[in-house]
Amino acid sequence: MKWTKSLIQTLREDPGDAEIDSHKLMVRAGLMKKLAGGLYTYLPLGMRALNKVQRRVREEMDRAGALEIVMPILQPAELWKTSGRWESMGPGMFRVKDRAQHDYAMSPTAEETVTEVVKGIVSSYRQLPVTVYQIQWKFRDEIRPRFGLMRSKEFLMKDAYSFDTSLEAADASYMAMFDAYRRVFARCGLKAYPVEADTGDIGGKFSHEFHVLADAGEDGIAFCDGCGYAANLEKAERRVAARDDAPCGEMETVPTPGAKTIDEVSKFMGVPGSAFVKSLVYVADGRPVMVCVPGDRDVNEVKLRHFLDAKKVELADYDTVLAATGANAGSVGPVGPADATLRIVADQELRGARGCITGANRDDHHIRNVDLDRDTAIKAGDYADLVVVRDGDICAKCGKPLVIKRGIEVGHVFKLGTKYTDAFRAVYKNDSLEEKTMVMGCYGIGVSRTVQAVIEQSHDRDGIVWPASVAPYQVCICLLDPDRAEVAGVADELESALESAGVDVIVDDRSERPGVKFKDADLIGFPVRVVVGAKGLEKGGVEVKLRREDKSKTRVVPPADAVAAITELLAGC
Ligand SMILES: [Zn+2]
Repeated sequence: MKWTKSLIQTLREDPGDAEIDSHKLMVRAGLMKKLAGGLYTYLPLGMRALNKVQRRVREEMDRAGALEIVMPILQPAELWKTSGRWESMGPGMFRVKDRAQHDYAMSPTAEETVTEVVKGIVSSYRQLPVTVYQIQWKFRDEIRPRFGLMRSKEFLMKDAYSFDTSLEAADASYMAMFDAYRRVFARCGLKAYPVEADTGDIGGKFSHEFHVLADAGEDGIAFCDGCGYAANLEKAERRVAARDDAPCGEMETVPTPGAKTIDEVSKFMGVPGSAFVKSLVYVADGRPVMVCVPGDRDVNEVKLRHFLDAKKVELADYDTVLAATGANAGSVGPVGPADATLRIVADQELRGARGCITGANRDDHHIRNVDLDRDTAIKAGDYADLVVVRDGDICAKCGKPLVIKRGIEVGHVFKLGTKYTDAFRAVYKNDSLEEKTMVMGCYGIGVSRTVQAVIEQSHDRDGIVWPASVAPYQVCICLLDPDRAEVAGVADELESALESAGVDVIVDDRSERPGVKFKDADLIGFPVRVVVGAKGLEKGGVEVKLRREDKSKTRVVPPADAVAAITELLAGC
């Protein structure tokens, strides 16, 4: 490919709306062009990278025995109503009507559709297990699209779905995908870590997210160096030491006028936030419940939902808080709420807490010297792990400190159970001809997001540093004297020799200064740069350099040996 025919547009300036390096670089290197908020055109270079990631995904899905299909993007509302997700997906799902006023979803995912499809084909245990996958555009109505392909309205995703005869059998399908994911990301040159994630209603350890570590990542992940434990912050657990608080005096109510937050009250009273019990009123499936956590901690709503065995938990509104406690949200506490039957649950760290400060259930008042056992109705069984872990918390598995890092989620494997197959009555006949419900798993890879994650993980101040496996072109030949036929001839010969060796190569044949060509080659990040110029050839060679090495590592190679030298270098990146 010749640069002058390639529609490459590079930019010197960062786009104004880009907050993270990978987004800036994708636009500046001419991989993609913004059409509107959250919508991008993949330009020829970006398309090549996207296609290469797709190829890696496809090869590993096929190797794992998954079968490729493609399902419609437009999915009838009836399917989504059957699962109950027409409502629960909320405004994040794009919906359209056809001319007959029939509703459709623009697929954000495809559990419903695939279940409908498979149930129409599979009738016997002999056809199971089966895993199907598609690489298809997905849609999400992001409130605030940002970070380029990380939070876009339209994105390319690989979604796979496994169907098995039983929960136990589904483990094998899950592990096959888990292993395939490890290989996909490794082959894309990514360091992606499997991280335990919340399993929703299924339970067990059958949900993992694959994360690429990056400071720009939106997700927090707790890691333990001691035992290798890794979990996202929704899921991550901690161990707490038993407390040995000294007995405290009688409770004392103190006025705290105008102080609403723990920060404000702690400043007002001159004591640290950790001395407080932070109390919040939630509504769990319609019933109010008070949640108490250490004053310097945040409630983990996912853990809370599981502990309460609730479908939905949300912060209570003004009236509910007032009716339950007798006060506004800033002054509530576990001591004598207005509703004496109000259930109060507390984080495990508060078990045996004495001498703490709580809201008084009276506006603008707090109570000191609270002994939770003595002064509240919290039951022994209502202490549980209910907070978000943070740096330095103790690993629940081994007792070493946890470290919190940032990650970009590029994949998710999930054992679904029978949520959808129950709703769609997707059954098979077992060997006794009894009808049984199929057990599902679902597995996603953000294909377009993976392209950007590669860049986020692999770039420097000059631009992208592509791994050879997904680079738009593996080699850029910088032709310094395009008007001199003998020099251009060397470049042409090298180009065809490399192509014959299966290497993707682009020749920068523009009439630009060498500095411009080198800058663009570094910005786009071709793994290998070859400089072909009259001066070099007079000295007997072409210059070969790896993108990830500095100039001092440049090799001068006779043109006849260049293909061998380049393919050897590419094998290492
Ligand atoms: Zn550990």
